[in-house]
Amino acid sequence: MTATRAPDLIVTGARVLTMWADRPRAGAVAICDGVIVAVGDRAEVEPLAGPSTRVIEAGGATVLPGFVESHLHLVLGGSELTHLSLVGIEGEATLTRAFRAFANDNPEAPLLMGQGGDYGLIGRPMTRHDLDRVIADRPIAITAPDHHTVWANTAALRAAGVLYGADTPPGHEVVMGDDGTATGELREFEAFAKVIALGGDERVNLGIATGRDPSPWPDAAALAVDREKAARGLAHCAAHGITSVINMDGNRYTLALLDGLRAEGRLTARVKVPFHFKPDMAPDMLDEAGALTADYADDWLSSGMVKLFMDGVMDSRTAFRLDDYPGQPGHRGAGLFGQDEFARIATEADRRGLQIAVHAIGDAAVRRTLDGYAAARAANGPRDSRHRIEHIELLDRTDLPRFATLGVTCSIQPVHGPGVLDFGLDGMEPFGADRLRDAFLCRDLQAAGAMVCFSSDWPVTDISVLRGIRAQLVRTPYPGAGDQRLPLSDTLAAYTARGAWAAHMERLTGTIRPGLSGDLVILTGDIEAVPEAEIDALGIRATIAGGRVTHGG
Ligand SMILES: [Zn+2]
Repeated sequence: MTATRAPDLIVTGARVLTMWADRPRAGAVAICDGVIVAVGDRAEVEPLAGPSTRVIEAGGATVLPGFVESHLHLVLGGSELTHLSLVGIEGEATLTRAFRAFANDNPEAPLLMGQGGDYGLIGRPMTRHDLDRVIADRPIAITAPDHHTVWANTAALRAAGVLYGADTPPGHEVVMGDDGTATGELREFEAFAKVIALGGDERVNLGIATGRDPSPWPDAAALAVDREKAARGLAHCAAHGITSVINMDGNRYTLALLDGLRAEGRLTARVKVPFHFKPDMAPDMLDEAGALTADYADDWLSSGMVKLFMDGVMDSRTAFRLDDYPGQPGHRGAGLFGQDEFARIATEADRRGLQIAVHAIGDAAVRRTLDGYAAARAANGPRDSRHRIEHIELLDRTDLPRFATLGVTCSIQPVHGPGVLDFGLDGMEPFGADRLRDAFLCRDLQAAGAMVCFSSDWPVTDISVLRGIRAQLVRTPYPGAGDQRLPLSDTLAAYTARGAWAAHMERLTGTIRPGLSGDLVILTGDIEAVPEAEIDALGIRATIAGGRVTHGG
């Protein structure tokens, strides 16, 4: 009989919410070789300690499974941490002050980039002339929170070579004024790619923009620059208690950056990276998804997923809906994939054993995606596919039962709702007053038997899980929608166990039980005892991924 080695780490004196049905609450957790070896009362677990065991006394604070961020953009977010944050900025005067201070702090930057600029930032559609009044002598640009629009000043448009327009594919537009020059509004990636490139972020945008790899493959110096962007993203995740990340864009390059960090011992979260399949791709591009799945298939880096966009976003009225946008008879947005086309791709991806995740915000986009999943199931037979729909901001209620019937996971960002976290109430307008009743139906979806997981879509919104939890719990219901908030217990599950399940990672992480990875987050207090409106006053004391302390201590 071999002696069992003493644990490397014991967290004790905790209120452990395990998300494990057999033992939902405990007082202590022991981890050895990166794996949870004991969960129990402190009297059961503490005696396992040996001389070299590190013991963290949690002082009655909540310990949860490390958060599973079900939808974010890691490298893009990491790169934007060095941009000017415009979250919460309103009005021309405030914008100008913020940008000029940022310019002073960054005298050498070839492009001054602001991120998170609200569509209503200055109270009217923004033009290059507005931005010229902010700063005229250096290129500046602003990204909308949804990353579907960029506004640039004249210097940036000129430096990027798009001041007099550019050829762009359908759906991407350098908006032109009557005088034959660009207005400064750039819609979708192919329109703003050259502006982004001024700041050196073009390579890390490809995973979301084109799904293709940089060509030629970057040299060592460029790789090192981009690896630091990924590292900043990972550090930001660790600081917020996140130990698993579903990156909702991707290509081989993204995985290569993360693999490079792993080689340096700097991969501090488990990352799943899908292959981003674009409408211009032939179905045999799914071969690349298969190759990524074969090449990255361990507990820290994996693929196995295809990400597609079915539509745009509500703010720019590019979400695909069943009825007309308010005040725009006949305008309903459009599906980025045709009905039959999507059904064909979904069937083929499903046949190859890939999980599918589709961005679908409007109710028509959601329905078309469900129809495609149904076609795949009819063709290939049922399997444990856990195909997902991302966002589901607007839903025709007749589709509610189909999620459970088809086994489709709902990956929702409750914090994206107008007026919920950082987004203004003006975001309600494109829904139409009579359709808010069908917006962000988290509770109705769960009640209909669907698996619901939560996330931030960072850098679209703040990554903070604790802020997200608070916002979800205290938000004001939309008129006619009923109360769509989930209670705290479901909310915590949506950020942990259900997120892990939705990513086929439930045998690895998402619950605290023996045999699973030592992925924990220790809060600074008891999340069940503080008032809901004060949950975001709690902090992250420590994050532990695979038994290693990745933040705090
Ligand atoms: Zn996203």
